[in-house]
Amino acid sequence: MAVLRVCHLYPGELNIYADRGNIAVLRRRCEWRGHRLEVLEAGIGDPIPADHDLYYLGGGQDRDQLVVAEDLPATKAAALRSAMADGAVLLAVCGGFQLAGHGYTAVDGSRMPGIGLLDADTVAGPTRLIGDLVIEAELEGERHRVVGFENHAGRTTLGPGSVPLGRVSSGHGNNGADGGEGAVTGRAIGTYLHGPLLPKNPWLADTVIRWGLEHAGGAPVRLDPLEDHLEESAHAAAVARAGVRR
Ligand code: GLN
Repeated sequence: MAVLRVCHLYPGELNIYADRGNIAVLRRRCEWRGHRLEVLEAGIGDPIPADHDLYYLGGGQDRDQLVVAEDLPATKAAALRSAMADGAVLLAVCGGFQLAGHGYTAVDGSRMPGIGLLDADTVAGPTRLIGDLVIEAELEGERHRVVGFENHAGRTTLGPGSVPLGRVSSGHGNNGADGGEGAVTGRAIGTYLHGPLLPKNPWLADTVIRWGLEHAGGAPVRLDPLEDHLEESAHAAAVARAGVRR
């Protein structure tokens, strides 16, 4: 039995589209394999430890994101940087993705600085990019279709320090123009995929669990396969709804 230590950042502020569902999936997929998940929730003003295996940042509306953007550099950025340098995992969704990058300029022009763990910068555009989103994701040379829902004003562009998580098959992705979705630097992943993300995408859930357990144990991990019939049906339904051919 192994223990995966997760630090859930700003569960009270960054919780749009059931971000807690992602934590629930991490918990169950660990428990089904006999592992244990420990979750530390850290809100505004709470300092965080640098020794956790997986850090999670969810999405939020601009007003919630503003409060978080003010707190992140003061109480959490240094620990996050040191955890990433140590090989810990970051999963950042939507507003969290924007703040894990260099920053987000909101519709009213206000700038929310990010913490630069991803080489991505975001500026809000005049319309929101909303709808079902299907991407062909690639991590460690493995390709999988990943599905979800997006709703963001931000247009994100990547610098050379990050690669996209995937290519858009249907939907808008980072900016509606270059076909990229999300950003990856090492074991830090940012994405616009909500839904929540992990219930319908067991491959991605298991990738971040495996990375986290490898950080915990300091050695390569092979996860036992699970019976994912329900998860695969939900995935297929999302692909069909988005109108992508199977
Ligand atoms: N406020 C950000 C935007 O609109 C992020 C939205 C979200 O997390 N859903 O781009």
